[in-house]
Order: sequence, then structure tokens, then C-alpha cells
Amino acid sequence: MRIDLHTHSTASDGTDTPAELVAHAAAAGLDAVAITDHDTTSGWADALAALPAGLRLVRGAELSCVSPDGRGGHCTVHLLAYLFDPQAPAVVAEAARTRADRRKRLAAIADRMAADGLPVDADDLLAGVPHDATPGRPHIAMALVRAGIVSTVDEAFTQYLNDRGRYYVPSSRTPVESSLETIAGAGGVTVLAHAFAHHRGRTVTADVIKELAALGLGGLEVDHPDHDLEARERLRALADELGLITTGSSDYHGTNKVIELGQETTAPEMLDAIAERATGVGIVGGS
Ligand code: AMP
Ligand code: ZN
Ligand code: FE
Ligand code: FE
Repeated sequence: MRIDLHTHSTASDGTDTPAELVAHAAAAGLDAVAITDHDTTSGWADALAALPAGLRLVRGAELSCVSPDGRGGHCTVHLLAYLFDPQAPAVVAEAARTRADRRKRLAAIADRMAADGLPVDADDLLAGVPHDATPGRPHIAMALVRAGIVSTVDEAFTQYLNDRGRYYVPSSRTPVESSLETIAGAGGVTVLAHAFAHHRGRTVTADVIKELAALGLGGLEVDHPDHDLEARERLRALADELGLITTGSSDYHGTNKVIELGQETTAPEMLDAIAERATGVGIVGGS
């Protein structure tokens, strides 16, 4: 049984359409895949319509949130949310708010770059992102690759788009406590994504994870390409101590990253635990 619970499509910053994503998941030999685009459920319908026979689809999203970091400051955390009701009013309102904010933010980054003579145009960029999809920095990275300024998306991040660079504009993130409440209220289950991916930037302490667990966090993503062995061991021990679900996933983004579908996987009993707790929407497909 091969299960990958964290992937992106063109509904956010992946390069596979939702239909291609499920086709690739089946071709990669997965038994279950979750579609978890940033801050949107707009890929769910197309993924469902194109679902190959035998593949189970877990509908989800990856929410960009801000959390106390446990060191006196704040940092970004990503919350994977599974099987919640996409029509719950708080979910709908939050998706609309973050989408509008992210379009403005993409334009702000593009304008700063254009002012420095880089060949990116805010209007062109936004025209290339469907109105119900979530724009992100990888969209600008792809534009820089197309323009021949850099040769890879990774290089675009290293040179221009990283959090410490002069073009960085943060997106307006929702307090993590509020997202936990919204998803629980919509019948979903939450899993903290890549919590100890230290090279991405600031991360939360174990004490913060304990507080989030007390607020209803359901699980921890332990096996993730950005986690080294030590991060995985610490997270697994923490999940054990707190009675949390553990998952493993690729965080596949198509050709934006060199990660393969199913590169990291989740144990079947963990997916069962997620499905048992969720009351929003069910897992579809499979035999
Ligand atoms: P944003 O949501 O706009 O802040 O952009 C974050 C997205 O960029 C996440 O999906 C990351 O996976 C992706 N990302 C961050 N660093 C890199 C990198 N070095 N190469 C490719 N994608 C990256
Ligand atoms: Zn992404
Ligand atoms: Fe993430
Ligand atoms: Fe992700």
C-alpha cells in the first residue's frame, strides 16, 4: 500500500493539472493520493472527475498560517487539512480572503522586480494564474526561467525569491489557532506540514507543537523530503508522546521540484485514523 498525502497541482503552484496529478499518481503505483494545494480546494472537482480506477483520492489543502515560534517571535507554519467540508462558510471566506491577498502580493513582488529591470510583468503573471487558483512565488520563478534569467526554479529562489531576499513580500497568513478551529468546525483533520524543515527558515519549537496539539492538531508530517533524520526522529517521538497521527509525503510540485510522487509515504493505518476522524467529505475511489 503506497500512500502520498501532500501534493500540489496547477490549482496552486504545481505544474500538473489536477487531472494529470491523479493520472501520474496512478502511474507511480500509488494506492491513495491527497491533493493539497495551497489555500484552495479549487482542484478537487477536476481531480475527482479524472480519478483513475483503483486510486483513492483524499481531498485536502495546505493552509499558510502564522504561529508563535516558541522563541519569542513568530513564523510561518503550513497546516495540511484533510476531508473538510469545502462549503463551510468559514472555509469559503478564508479561501476568498487568502486568494485576493496572494494576487496582490504576487503583483507587489513583480512590481519590485520590474522596477529593477527584471523582465516580469504583474498583469501577465496574474493572467497566467486561473482566477480560482492560488498564486505563489513559484509562478514568478517559472516566469524568470521562461525569460532565461535563471535556468531552474530552484535557482530563482536562491537568487531572487527566498525569504531573505530584497524582493520578498510575505503573504498575509492566518493565525494557526484560527485555522485549526476553522478546519475542525468543517469536519476536517489537520496535520502540521514539514514542521522541522530548518533550511526553509524559522521553525516552531516542540513546546509550540504541544500547544497546537492541545488546540486540536491531529497529526505531524514526519517523513518529508526537507526533514533530515534527526528532524524525523524528534517529530516521531513527539507524535508518540502526544498521541498524534504521523504521515509521510512527497510535497510533489510537478516539474517545479525534483521530488517524485510517492518519494515519501504514509502508513495505511494512519490514513485510516484520518478517515475515521473526518466528518466533512469522505475518501473517494479505490476498490
Ligand atoms: P509562497 O507560498 O508564495 O510563499 O511560496 C512558497 C512555495 O514555494 C512553496 O510551495 C515551496 O515549496 C516553494 N519553494 C520554496 N523554496 C523553493 C525552492 N528553493 N525551489 C522550488 N520551490 C520552492
Ligand atoms: Zn507549493
Ligand atoms: Fe508547505
Ligand atoms: Fe506543500
